[in-house]
Amino acid sequence: MRPAILNPLFADITVLSGVGPKLSTLIARAAGPHVVDLILTPPSGLVDRSFRPSIADAPENRILTLEVTVDRHHPPPKGKRLPYKVICSDETGYLTLVFFHARADYLQKTLPEGEKRLVSGKIEDYGGARQMVHPDYIADPQKPGEMPLYEPVYPLTAGLSAAVMRKAVTQAVQRTPDLPEWQEPTWLKARDWKGWKEAIDAVHAPHALEDLSSMTPPRQRIAYDELLANQLALALIRKARIKKKGRAIKGDGRLLAKARAALPFSLTNAQKEALKDIFDDMRAPERMVRLLQGDVGSGKTIVAFLSMLTAVEAGAQAALMAPTEILARQHLESLASLAEAAGVTLEILTGRDKGATRVEKLERLKTGAIDILIGTHALFQEGVDFRDLALVVIDEQHRFGVRQRVALAHKGPKPDLLVMTATPIPRTLSLTAYGDMEHSRITEKPPGRKPVDTRAIPMSRLDEVIAAVKRVTGEGNQAYWVCPLVEESDVIDLTAAEERFESLKEVLGERVGLVHGRMSGPEKDAVMERFYRGDLSVLIATTVIEVGVNAPNATIMIIEHAERFGLAQLHQLRGRVGRGDKKSSCILLYRPPLGETAKARLKVLRDTEDGFVIAEEDLRLRGAGDVLGAAQSGFPHFRLADIAVHGELLAAARDDAKLIMERDPELKTVRGEALRTLLYLFSRDDAVKLLSAG
Ligand code: ADP
Ligand code: MG
Repeated sequence: MRPAILNPLFADITVLSGVGPKLSTLIARAAGPHVVDLILTPPSGLVDRSFRPSIADAPENRILTLEVTVDRHHPPPKGKRLPYKVICSDETGYLTLVFFHARADYLQKTLPEGEKRLVSGKIEDYGGARQMVHPDYIADPQKPGEMPLYEPVYPLTAGLSAAVMRKAVTQAVQRTPDLPEWQEPTWLKARDWKGWKEAIDAVHAPHALEDLSSMTPPRQRIAYDELLANQLALALIRKARIKKKGRAIKGDGRLLAKARAALPFSLTNAQKEALKDIFDDMRAPERMVRLLQGDVGSGKTIVAFLSMLTAVEAGAQAALMAPTEILARQHLESLASLAEAAGVTLEILTGRDKGATRVEKLERLKTGAIDILIGTHALFQEGVDFRDLALVVIDEQHRFGVRQRVALAHKGPKPDLLVMTATPIPRTLSLTAYGDMEHSRITEKPPGRKPVDTRAIPMSRLDEVIAAVKRVTGEGNQAYWVCPLVEESDVIDLTAAEERFESLKEVLGERVGLVHGRMSGPEKDAVMERFYRGDLSVLIATTVIEVGVNAPNATIMIIEHAERFGLAQLHQLRGRVGRGDKKSSCILLYRPPLGETAKARLKVLRDTEDGFVIAEEDLRLRGAGDVLGAAQSGFPHFRLADIAVHGELLAAARDDAKLIMERDPELKTVRGEALRTLLYLFSRDDAVKLLSAG
């Protein structure tokens, strides 16, 4: 149960005065549906009213505050739809205040003739006179509290005004309770950080642009709270999993030896190290949950296969889950001869298996006649029962978030789990998303790979590029041509891809195919299959090929609008070529002029092919939110923490979480209790539940 002290924060925002059903929808869109969401939304801007020029010196189009004497009221003549004007002055000149649809009695009261008033807003010149239309504030200089000098501005959404949003957030902040301190006093002192409530108050009371930075002490304090909640939750999930007994899988090496003898190459050191990690984990009685990261083409598949053989050696079964049907098939093909050499039975199960075939496969699976099963998510459907499943490998799953891992951990028997991703993730990011897993990284490519010749070429030279594609495909090689889909359903971009398809067909003939995100899975698979088989020379695609078909004859990759892609994406796409022993190239077609960031991106790409280096640069250039498109990737969405700049805090939070787990694993001490509150505050209820379940 959430501690009662947090209840005011988890109330619906309609409890705030002035926030009805209609506004609450808008505010929820901008920040979130609960009071706490407003508190954890930092201001993105600042209105500064501290600029106090004289009337004569006042510039246009800048927020300022003038101290004026109210001279005369000029109500509009009766029946005329003219504005109400109030003439004011200081020693340097005159200012006209202009009000449309004004209430005269109200203006008489707030702007009494002969008195001094502060008026704040923007001024403009109107026919030679200086005027201010609808001042933001009118205040008595004797009562300075009537007008805030600084006002935070929050992220908005269509239909939501800055003033309304500010009013809502201000109320939310006022409702913030003082909470028991969950941070260590010595750490707070060393950092010169204040308590949670004081920090929240300060975050929402910026006085200068610098105060909006994510590096101010109050922002850092809250960011650290958020990161600690994240790391502690992952540590709890990890511990809960370790407590659940797995099984010790130990092979005798007999199948492994056969497979390795049949390999036409020797393993790289990085592959050997990853295998050692995996074997150690499998041998241990706890359940393995390991992430294997490695660039496209770094040789993860063989590592997975040898791991699965170990399970078979131990008398059990293994499963490999691929994200698409065609990738499952490719795995089957590439592993078939090795499986034969090792003498194990490999089978595939996908959504396409229906009727008798499916029944027969399921039967063989149940009796153990199938040793290793490859497939799509159909593998984990109802009715798919293994005789004895000891290892599950999930390929290419950066969409496999913490929640799904928790779900899998709660399901049925507990096989060891190996998750493979071809998306190199910066160390910091992978700590936040995969902090509950062990990590192996393959940082080295198999020997003999030729570097991909990478060039940035402006669209004006499109003809040359098409000529190059014609030449390359004429030599029997294949080409990828990527036209980006920027928004999820951008019809214009789809049209662009279709137009490119038509125009390339004119030049290159019928051996051009098109796949895009609007096609159904089987439709896509069919086109990719034709490319993979060599029936197509050119595959035009929106970014769907990111997940990757392996076409060793593909030697040229064209990326249109390369400036629209993130670095990591470009790198992923480029990884589709250069897989065989032929020389390959990657052409980044762009529309000039290139911005500084785009230039920096293209340069990084030309300079290195190391996915891990590129991922770090991507994080630096874009910020964490954008890397991989956080929303769809299972990465946590942070409110105040920014992994791109708070990396050091993350490392500290990780150490802190580790210490807490050593000293107070059940969170029972006074600090432990406070930490439970912290977890609830950042909505990590899932992790706290693991605790109370014991
Ligand atoms: P990934 O799954 O990491 O993208 P793959 O496992 O598909 O990469 O490997 C890419 C290619 O490299 C495959 O053709 C594979 O046979 C080959 N390969 C894997 N390991 C080695 C190695 N140690 N030496 C040479 N070639 C290798
Ligand atoms: Mg792969």
